[in-house]
Amino acid sequence: MGELLYEGKAKKMFTTDDPFVLRVEYKNDATAFNGQKKAKFEGKGRLNNAICTKIFHVLQQKNLPTHYLETISETEQLVKSVDIVPIEVVVRNIVAGSLAKRLGLDEGTDLGKTIVEFYYKSDDLGDPMINDDHALAIKIATEEELTEIRRQALAVNKVLQELFSEAGILLVDFKLEFGKLKETGAIVLADEISPDTCRLWDKETHEKLDKDVFRRNIADLPETYEKLLSRLEAVR
Ligand code: UDP
Repeated sequence: MGELLYEGKAKKMFTTDDPFVLRVEYKNDATAFNGQKKAKFEGKGRLNNAICTKIFHVLQQKNLPTHYLETISETEQLVKSVDIVPIEVVVRNIVAGSLAKRLGLDEGTDLGKTIVEFYYKSDDLGDPMINDDHALAIKIATEEELTEIRRQALAVNKVLQELFSEAGILLVDFKLEFGKLKETGAIVLADEISPDTCRLWDKETHEKLDKDVFRRNIADLPETYEKLLSRLEAVR
């Protein structure tokens, strides 16, 4: 079954017989506000695995490099082993969440220009926002890696904006993590893309189809994620 390598808020990672391959298990736990708000939702692991699988398949079809290999059960995927670059990359198309607060803008304002932000992955420091100079100074990535990460993040944004748009959904913002393949050091998209890590709004009504329904006590999380999955399944 493999050895537990790491347990995060929403996933567990296990080793496999292949040193270059890991097994990811999606959990039913939901957390918000740095773990201060917690709950378990029956079916959440299955839903996020299914949604994330769909998204990784679409990215693969567009030749965007990811760590994804295959989905092996309702809650599990096999992925390539990577060294995670300790940067959370947030891509924003529409103002929401922390950007609304930081810049005093109304949630829902169309940015007109996609914004890419970097946050240093550090629980102790509370993931502070950094720029390229900080990342270079603390040696968490090279200039070439940062350029490649930004390029891939924008390419992922284009593909996902199109996918969600077909389902009548706005891709407001999302968080990505990148890793370096153990074998070659090449930068690939890692971690997950799911309603836990994206803001997704119905195009017409702006109904929220993401973890904000849990963060802000708006609606039932599994029902919301189920709705999102059916809308994605209806288009691809
Ligand atoms: N996000 C995430 N993990 C984090 C922080 C943010 O997945 O640790 C996602 C979040 O779901 C949203 C986007 O990144 O889609 C931007 O989040 P924001 O900076 O607005 O922070 P928040 O309002 O969620 O605290």
